Amino acid sequence: MPLDKAKAPFTLPKLPYAEDALAPVISAKTISFHYGKHHATYVKTLNELIAGTAYEGLSLDEIVVRAAKDTAAKKIFNNAAQAWNHDFYWHSMRAKAGAPAGKIKDALEKSFGDLAAFNKAFSQAAVGQFGSGWTWLVKDKDGALKIEATSNADTPIAHGDTPLLVADVWEHAYYLDFQNRRPDYVTAWLDKLVNWSFAEENLG
Ligand code: FE
Repeated sequence: MPLDKAKAPFTLPKLPYAEDALAPVISAKTISFHYGKHHATYVKTLNELIAGTAYEGLSLDEIVVRAAKDTAAKKIFNNAAQAWNHDFYWHSMRAKAGAPAGKIKDALEKSFGDLAAFNKAFSQAAVGQFGSGWTWLVKDKDGALKIEATSNADTPIAHGDTPLLVADVWEHAYYLDFQNRRPDYVTAWLDKLVNWSFAEENLG
């Protein structure tokens, strides 16, 4: 992840593609608000919150992990985790989704059986997530792949799992394109946008 070792003040990382690259599944209008307003605000707010605190000299990963255990730093956690999660989300998608291949294909088959079984389990988690949150494919400490659902800003890097892919299921991710039809967004996301090369890189 490009942001991992950066220190404050954080800057909004560049999108890995043009704002209209994911259309028609995700429109340029959605990306312009989601990236240009929501993501940008998390980064800006984080910089304001950590200025002059013990968090100021840390990388974004370090802030997320430490603030997760600090009940007095809930706002810092929320904004740092949302900054991290969004950057990871942009990289989890690409204009032309291929099929999983190589190491990621083997790992998926070992843990889920096949791609269809993975898609079904991921979709159930994403559609079933109550309220705002994220649906992740992660590698756990034993190396097995699993699906993890997190609420609001919560993120697997705060809990020791290794994220491979993420779908943002906050309404702001899909409302302009799909209104309340989250299942349609999730299906299109899985069929047309998943960046399996990124997932494979994250396997390590
Ligand atoms: Fe979002």
